[in-house]
Amino acid sequence: MKTPPRSPYVVVGAGIHGLSTAYHLAKELRARGNGGGTDVIVLDKAHPGAGASGIACGVVRNNYFQPAMSELMQACVEVWESDPEAYAYNPVGYIALGASVQEADLSETHARQERIGYRSELIVGEAEVDAHMKELFPDWRAQGVTVCLHEHQGGFAFNMDSVEGLHGKCREEGVSVLSGVEVLGLENGSDGSITAVETSAGRIEVGEQVVLAPGPWARQFWEMLALPETIDVHTPGGEVVRDRPMWTYWNLQEGEVGVDPLTFATADGGAPPVIHLDTDAPLYSDDGNLIADELWGIYFKRDRHSVQGGASPVVVDGDVELDPYPQTTDVDPAFPDLFCAALSHAMSRFEGCRPLYKQARSGGVGAFTADNFPVFDYFRPNLYAILDSNHGYKMIGVGKEVASVLLGGHSRLLYPFRFERFATGDLHPVSSSPYPWS
Ligand SMILES: Cc1cc2nc3c(=O)[nH]c(=O)nc-3n(C[C@H](O)[C@H](O)[C@H](O)COP(=O)(O)OP(=O)(O)OC[C@H]3O[C@@H](n4cnc5c(N)ncnc54)[C@H](O)[C@@H]3O)c2cc1C
Repeated sequence: MKTPPRSPYVVVGAGIHGLSTAYHLAKELRARGNGGGTDVIVLDKAHPGAGASGIACGVVRNNYFQPAMSELMQACVEVWESDPEAYAYNPVGYIALGASVQEADLSETHARQERIGYRSELIVGEAEVDAHMKELFPDWRAQGVTVCLHEHQGGFAFNMDSVEGLHGKCREEGVSVLSGVEVLGLENGSDGSITAVETSAGRIEVGEQVVLAPGPWARQFWEMLALPETIDVHTPGGEVVRDRPMWTYWNLQEGEVGVDPLTFATADGGAPPVIHLDTDAPLYSDDGNLIADELWGIYFKRDRHSVQGGASPVVVDGDVELDPYPQTTDVDPAFPDLFCAALSHAMSRFEGCRPLYKQARSGGVGAFTADNFPVFDYFRPNLYAILDSNHGYKMIGVGKEVASVLLGGHSRLLYPFRFERFATGDLHPVSSSPYPWS
């Protein structure tokens, strides 16, 4: 692959963030009469969608307890809704169901969604939630669920198709997306600016700015920038948690069941919302074995050829091997039993689905920051990094915000995600959810 000797803007990583940034930057440069897509290149050591964006379950939701996440997600959903066809976006909505321990969090999330104008409804009480779910799915039978946040926006998108949609938009704007070009190093100027990017296909001088969007490979770039492996985290209460690892890795547990996807429909035959079920009711397999007796959860959606979803991720102990991605992922051998039992617990139509579990290309490793929330910030005068802490397939609008920041704007939505928060104690509130990304 031939690389140009120089480019004004160099974006590293052709996942959802790198491509969205490149596309929105090209569009904005053109609109301002300051250039256009030929000023932007995207480099990927493999190809578009080779990272987490290409295997993401694709769930797009606003169920976030943190105000800043909720507001950012609202802007992202607007981008998904702006071109559902190109982004392969299915606006089917999203339902979060929780046990009593989650009632307060989901109620607060709903109240905020009402305030910001994100369409959703809240149902509280075991009988009320059961009635709401039975209206949608007459065979609904999940136990121990006392709260339901039904988001009427959001849904899911098909992972590789949406990456291709963004790739196509980049091409239309004249952006070059170069596959098979690995970034090996960054050359520093005397003021700390990045003057050039060293790649497996030669050196590229940077005219203006570099954007890193490396997904799970965040730590490799962190090291390239000589940033610290551990950091002190200042809490809002004034305590200091010393030497927290900046990066931890989790194996995301996902899989699919080869049932006819059309059997997963609403009572009126419509496309079902994405469902996320957390409960503390005991979970048994269809043949009566106890699978879980404390809070457990799954999420699932109708896919093209199956029903696909996942459960709580598992921390990677010790060193993580990322390449080849995602084949290095460890899926817990107990996951298929849990996933299938949980589907059957939710709806009787899934009873007996365990033999239909498929060993598919699902699951993957994600890189998480010290507080499990994204870091979007400048790390050098002309180097911006999008480090999404594995939240971000749904965050297609982050690239749009970053493009405006690159051109001198301020983003109210990205500001709460600056790296400085760890030093100032300006952290995001933490919910009672068992997931590291809620
Ligand atoms: C199994 C799984 C399921 C998920 N499900 C969801 C979901 O349902 N909803 C959701 O919102 N999020 C989900 N996520 C999280 C989401 O997928 C990621 O947060 C998001 O895709 C990251 O996008 P990205 O563009 O930053 O990185 P990626 O998509 O990982 O892209 C990074 C790119 O950088 C390239 N690269 C790496 N190193 C170099 C280098 N040195 N030189 C050049 N190129 C390089 C890689 O080849 C890769 O293509 C999931 C993640 C996983 C793993």
